[in-house]
Amino acid sequence: MPTPIYMDNNATTRVDPRVIDAMLPWFGEDYGNAASLHHAFGRKAEEGVETARAEVAELIGAKPREIVFTSGATESDNLALRGAALMARSRGDHLITAATEHHAVLDTVRRLERDGFRVTTLGVDHEGHVTPEQVEEAITDRTILVSLMAANNEVGTLHPLAAIGEICHRRGVLFHTDAAQAAGKVSLDVESMHLDLVSLSAHKMYGPKGVGALYVRRRNPTVRLEPMLEGGGHERGLRSGTLNVPGIVGFGLACRLCAGELATEAERLAVLRDRLYYGIVEAIDGVTLNGPLEDRLPGNLNLSFAWVRGEALLMGLRGVAVSTGSACTSASPEASYVLRAMGIEEELAHASLRFGLGRFTTADEVSTVIDEVRRVVSMLREMSPDYALHRQARVLAASS
Ligand SMILES: *Cc1c(COP(=O)(O)O)cnc(C)c1O
Repeated sequence: MPTPIYMDNNATTRVDPRVIDAMLPWFGEDYGNAASLHHAFGRKAEEGVETARAEVAELIGAKPREIVFTSGATESDNLALRGAALMARSRGDHLITAATEHHAVLDTVRRLERDGFRVTTLGVDHEGHVTPEQVEEAITDRTILVSLMAANNEVGTLHPLAAIGEICHRRGVLFHTDAAQAAGKVSLDVESMHLDLVSLSAHKMYGPKGVGALYVRRRNPTVRLEPMLEGGGHERGLRSGTLNVPGIVGFGLACRLCAGELATEAERLAVLRDRLYYGIVEAIDGVTLNGPLEDRLPGNLNLSFAWVRGEALLMGLRGVAVSTGSACTSASPEASYVLRAMGIEEELAHASLRFGLGRFTTADEVSTVIDEVRRVVSMLREMSPDYALHRQARVLAASS
């Protein structure tokens, strides 16, 4: 069987060959421990890490010393939310987040709730948006932190970070954003967006798996966190553990490549994504777009197909690697909680597909996927009693 076409770039991305090349020496001759500064091996490793730290910082307009390396966005979300909440306990006990956040945020706030914190989970509109007004209304004098993702991993919805960040800073509340999906795809700036804590993940931006970072603001305000991992005091005591030097070097280059190609790549992906969208909706009836047309990650498309099931679609589309719901929950039969929070009815939420286009997606692949989706949806509908009824009703309506 030929290799399927990869259209699941919101779940993970292929490591860019330039990133692999840059990482290789750090597995081989440059194997030092970045904390062993008393000899040349360690100092070389430390140099590699510090170059990467500057590259990661540059992507989001931060200073290198504000970057803490972690194992990925899950760990960064845990450190940001739990670390900030435990540190601020004497000042307040209230957190604000939204219903469509990643489980790394939702499950962390749920645990904080069990530990005595109070959490407001904001609802979203039909396109997955939270408004600045909703945030403003939810803030109380006990609120310590607001956590809202930069871009949603299922439907690509972008939140108005600058406006929300401005409110948080005016009200003296910390603002965390999970930017695992947005970083490197849309521009982010910690100053103009008033971000205090930002979670990043290398494998969502053509870097290696198992590496990420947390941006922690050092000035105006100085953010203090309770560490989650204790040990050798690495990363200014915020994240102990020997640094993953090859991974961090790869992450740094991945950030630099994304920054350099961001504008042209966003444009290219949006064109391909729109071609995919119109190629499908113009050929098949009963297709709805989940999430907004504008304010959306350039490479993300999420569609629902009436009268078919998402699982059946996935089975039929063997030549295309896509997801139904989010990757983390696609093994379970539950409809996507993100789509449900957006008010999309259960049937259509079950009949959804997420297409994630990326750096290595070509125009030819998009054409092939359009043909495949048309073929599989028509085939499934031929077998669907619901679709037969729908067609009959249409014929009756036309003849009366
Ligand atoms: C992928 C993802 C995560 C988890 O990142 P890991 O680096 O895999 O731990 C968290 N949040 C969002 C929005 C994501 O897309």
